[in-house]
Amino acid sequence: MKIWIDGALVDKEHATVSVYDHGILYGDGVFEGIRAYSGRIFKLQTHLDRLLASAKSIRLTMHYTEREIEQAVRETVAANGSPDAYIRLVVTRGVGPLGLSPFTCPRPCTIVIADRIQLYPKELYENGMPVIVARRPRIPVECLDPSVKSLNYLNNILAKIEAIDAGVHEAIMLNTDGEVCECTGDNIFLVMGGRLVTPPTNAGLLDGVTRRFVMDTLAPALGIAVEERRFRIEDLFTADEVFLTGTAAEVIGVTRIDGEQFGDGAVGPITLQLMAEFRRRVSKDAPED
Ligand code: PMP
Repeated sequence: MKIWIDGALVDKEHATVSVYDHGILYGDGVFEGIRAYSGRIFKLQTHLDRLLASAKSIRLTMHYTEREIEQAVRETVAANGSPDAYIRLVVTRGVGPLGLSPFTCPRPCTIVIADRIQLYPKELYENGMPVIVARRPRIPVECLDPSVKSLNYLNNILAKIEAIDAGVHEAIMLNTDGEVCECTGDNIFLVMGGRLVTPPTNAGLLDGVTRRFVMDTLAPALGIAVEERRFRIEDLFTADEVFLTGTAAEVIGVTRIDGEQFGDGAVGPITLQLMAEFRRRVSKDAPED
C-alpha cells in the first residue's frame, strides 16, 4: 500500500511522522474521512471545504493548496488501485519544539491514506443496530466546537469505550443541556409521522457530509420532509424509527437503545428506503453528482 505524505507516495512501512509532530504530542491537527465508490470520490469538494474550515478555525495554515490536496487524494486512490476505498486525509500541525504553541511549527504534515473500512458488521445493516446512550456528554461548543473535525477525538473515544463495555458498537451522545446530539462517529436522525428529524448543528455536533446528503438529496428524492430540531432521549423512544449516518457507517438503522427494543425490532421502512437510495446513488451507474 502506498501512502501520500508531504508530496510523495511512499510504502506504508516508510510512511512515518516525527515524534515531535504536534499532531502526536497534543492531538493538534484536522482530518477528513472520505469514501471512493467505483473509483469516484464521493463529495470530495464538500470534504475539502470542511477540512479547510476546520484548519481555519484552529489557525492552521495549510502547506498545500486545495487543488493540490484534491490531486493528492486522487493520486493516492489511483496508486492503490482501490476503486472502493476509505480515504483518511490528515493535516497535523507539524514538527515543533515541546510546548503547546502551534506557532512554533513551521510546516504542517499532510497525509493521505486510501484503505478500506468495515465499521459495523454487515448483518447489523440488515437487522438493525443496538446502541447505548453514553453517560459522558459531547464536548460543549464553547470548549471545542464539534463542527471542527480535529485530531482531538478522546471525548468520542471514551464514549465509544462505554459502548464497547456495554457490548454494542455505537453510543448516542447528549450535549451538556441533555439534548440528543450525535454519536461517537455518526450523526443521528429519527423518523416521526413520516418526517425526518435531526438536531441542528448548533446543538453541538459535526455537520456530517452524509447527514447533509440525506437531508438535501436522499430525503427530497423520496418525497420525505426533514426538520432540524432539538430533541431529547424521550423523543427517541417515541419515534417510529431511528437511524445513523456517517461516511464510514453510511446509513444504518437502530433497533435497540440501552437494551430496550425499539418499535417492532426491525429496521424501519423509511430507513430501508434511504439505505436503498443511498446505494443507488453511489453505484457505478449513477450519474456523478
Ligand atoms: N459525527 C462525528 C463525531 C464524526 O466523527 C463523523 C464522521 N465519522 C460524523 C458525525 C459523520 O460525518 P460524515 O457523514 O461527514 O462522515
